Amino acid sequence: MAKTTAFHSIHRDVHHNNTSCTEGNNIEKENRREGTGGKPLCKHCERL
Ligand SMILES: [Zn+2]
Repeated sequence: MAKTTAFHSIHRDVHHNNTSCTEGNNIEKENRREGTGGKPLCKHCERL
């Protein structure tokens, strides 16, 4: 579980900040963007 720079998917309403988040890891490269995108932190990342 490693914190990383915030990133998000352009198709999701949450952002991620952990390399161990399966949901975050499932984001395809073309849909992944740096930063929070103004979206709340993913619930899974919150617990990691
Ligand atoms: Zn996440």
